[in-house]
Amino acid sequence: MSAGDSEAARIARARLPEGLRPETLAVRTALAPSQHGENSEGLFLSSAFVQPDAETSARRFANMEDFTYARTSNPTVRSLEQRLAAMEGAEGCVATATGMSAILLLIMGLLKSGDHVICSRSVFGSTISLFAKEFAKFGVETSFVSQTDLGEWRAALRPTTKLLFAETPTNPLTDVCDIRALADLAHGAGALLTVDNTFCTPALQRPLALGADLVMHAGTKYLDGQGRVMAGSLCGANRLIVDVFGPTMRTAGMTLAPFNAWVVLKGLETLALRMKAQSEAALQVARWLEAHPAVARVHYPALPSHPQHALAMAQQSGFGGAVVSFDVKGATPEAARAAAFHVIDSTRVLSIATNLGDTKSIVTHPATTSHGRLSEAQRQASGIGQGLIRLAVGLEHVDDITDDLQRGLGTLTT
Ligand SMILES: *Cc1c(COP(=O)(O)O)cnc(C)c1O
Repeated sequence: MSAGDSEAARIARARLPEGLRPETLAVRTALAPSQHGENSEGLFLSSAFVQPDAETSARRFANMEDFTYARTSNPTVRSLEQRLAAMEGAEGCVATATGMSAILLLIMGLLKSGDHVICSRSVFGSTISLFAKEFAKFGVETSFVSQTDLGEWRAALRPTTKLLFAETPTNPLTDVCDIRALADLAHGAGALLTVDNTFCTPALQRPLALGADLVMHAGTKYLDGQGRVMAGSLCGANRLIVDVFGPTMRTAGMTLAPFNAWVVLKGLETLALRMKAQSEAALQVARWLEAHPAVARVHYPALPSHPQHALAMAQQSGFGGAVVSFDVKGATPEAARAAAFHVIDSTRVLSIATNLGDTKSIVTHPATTSHGRLSEAQRQASGIGQGLIRLAVGLEHVDDITDDLQRGLGTLTT
């Protein structure tokens, strides 16, 4: 094959036909291969990019186009952004160093002092701190409302409300909010809706198709999927991604490292398979737990006992996701805590950790870890009891997961 033929093949691969399905986009969307024709996307560890001449350099710097300096963009990061945008059904995507820095970029880019945000009070703990403490210092005020009561969101609207921020399902209780209803509420008030889609990922839930304006991810979780790197992102229309967040990102520099981008890019290729397998295993574990005499309550969207079961099934492609939480029985908070610790400490396969979204199942005691800095009253208000255990189901055989839980649940003496 002549050099011209291989160049033509390279370009053809970059211009995928219209109408490809999500599974195909997750494997195929990326920048064109280099002149070497690599089949697996390359990892470009380069901070600077050589310009052909001063004139081109000037144009690229002025328009933020092509590649100049890696704080603005890098080919590996760009490939991840294109692939994730395709999977979310978004025009554009900007990748960030962590999930939290994606929210930092969101607020720095979009809001100014005096603007108002409405946020569910059940979102990720660091998200609450970021809004309530850090952004408040710069004059951006946030009202925290019920995850599930639309009336509270409506009542919190002000003339200065610019953003509604939701996360669904929530951590650890898997409460589900109605994305379409929140989008309608936001748009009626001239505000935007951002959805943290970390728990479902685009494999199960596509918030933009339900009316959300922006989708945020902690790529650290299921997008990587094997617990290796930190990453984050915002997906949405290019008038926001390119015009609003592009300049903020270039200046403030919450840039994703190319190596981390490459790991997540490869993670996306197996995302749909993993999410479905882990969700199916989680449902089996949830059903097993619900029938267990030592378990008081199971929180899982795919169980008919979940308060927003029908909404969750419609919004999440019929899947519950891979996080299951359950309360072990205990007559007092102290007894419930001792029982939960016994179950956790009796495991020999599950990891005791506070991450999720890994192939390795992870067991967590929220009341003393992720929610440990809250007062007991705050914890009670958010439903995080001392007997609550969160299980992020991975890819082990499901019987080995239930056997591991049974070691403790079967020997409780309370
Ligand atoms: C982990 C997580 C975040 C924060 O992501 P980091 O990558 O840890 O910064 C935000 N939202 C949700 C739902 C998360 O689980």
